[in-house]
Amino acid sequence: MMKNVITLTSIFLSTAILIGCHVATQLPEGSASTANACNVGTVQLTTDFPTGRLGKCEKHSSNEFSVTLVPENTPINSSPWYAFKLSAEQETKVKVAIKVEGYSHRYLPKISSNRKAWKLYPFKMQQDEMVLEVNASVSPVYIAGQEIIDNQYYVDWQNKLAKLNKLAVEPFARSVQGRTMYKLESTQPNNKEWLVVLGRMHPPEITGALALFPFVETLLSDSDAAKAFRDRFNIIIVPNLNPDGVELGNWRHNTNGVDLNRDWNKFQQPEVKAVDQLLESIVEDGGKISMAVDFHSTHKDIFYTMPNDYGMEQRFLVNNWLNKLDKQYPNFSVIQKPGNNPGRGVFKQYVADKYNVHAITYEMGDNTDRGFISRLANDAALSLMETMLKNNDEKH
Ligand SMILES: [Zn+2]
Repeated sequence: MMKNVITLTSIFLSTAILIGCHVATQLPEGSASTANACNVGTVQLTTDFPTGRLGKCEKHSSNEFSVTLVPENTPINSSPWYAFKLSAEQETKVKVAIKVEGYSHRYLPKISSNRKAWKLYPFKMQQDEMVLEVNASVSPVYIAGQEIIDNQYYVDWQNKLAKLNKLAVEPFARSVQGRTMYKLESTQPNNKEWLVVLGRMHPPEITGALALFPFVETLLSDSDAAKAFRDRFNIIIVPNLNPDGVELGNWRHNTNGVDLNRDWNKFQQPEVKAVDQLLESIVEDGGKISMAVDFHSTHKDIFYTMPNDYGMEQRFLVNNWLNKLDKQYPNFSVIQKPGNNPGRGVFKQYVADKYNVHAITYEMGDNTDRGFISRLANDAALSLMETMLKNNDEKH
């Protein structure tokens, strides 16, 4: 009976999800969005967990609900995030219709009983509404636009790497709402050159995060290639640039209602300003920014680059890297999209303009197979390390 049921194979997250108790750590007031019309009664839709977001919820009968997703402010890129918990006092078939106010749907619904293992959930489109039928019971299920990766997930991940002596983890700034921002560093005393890795400027862009984790783990691995790389290059990682947006389930912006990837020319947002100062302090200490990779998601897999004739050092670094990666994947195109947009406030442009080196926006598709994202990220990290150890004034 379900029309337009998504045909993608249901996938459980292949990424190893860290088990860790989700202890609330010094979070400010007003964390996850709370009260709405659907959190009372025998069937409940609630958002009382990090990243939880429903917008407006209306109850039509004891088991029929409609949800209207609403952005934090407008204008905004159309990335309607949703994440809610569904439970019922006794087993009940529940219908939830999800629509978007003023924008269009982006994320296919996924379900989980533990917020760790997720699978795609079938739905049908009725005009502009996504309609889900779910068996609710006393054991709650979570329904979200993508797998949930909350702020605690980053803390658990980085602590695990720190325990293995892979990284030094340090708080270095606070978000608008006062959440701690962390920098992760792998350094050796005589290294001067730095690779910069950023992630999660845009909270719902989960596939970018799913690429960042294995990418960083490969940079920090015990392979000869990674050791050779770290003998020459230091690495600084800010994996979670928008912790407020992540906590609140924002579509895109920080708590000031600003797209952080449009602020790298104004530096008005504390999250962006802090990273700018962090990179400046590296240079003040005699270091050199050599390359930067910023992880995002969009409708397809694509690598936004700076043009190789923009006058930067190591002119063909990114071409050499991504061409090498492309050759490893005969059935997949590593698409390079060069662009130069001065004045737009995008991170990669800022790196090119301020440090005269390459930077890329590494975009994974929203629906790209999760196992593939991980394999590609491993290979991308390996080929980047090999490329950065060579001279890239010429094409390889
Ligand atoms: Zn993005």
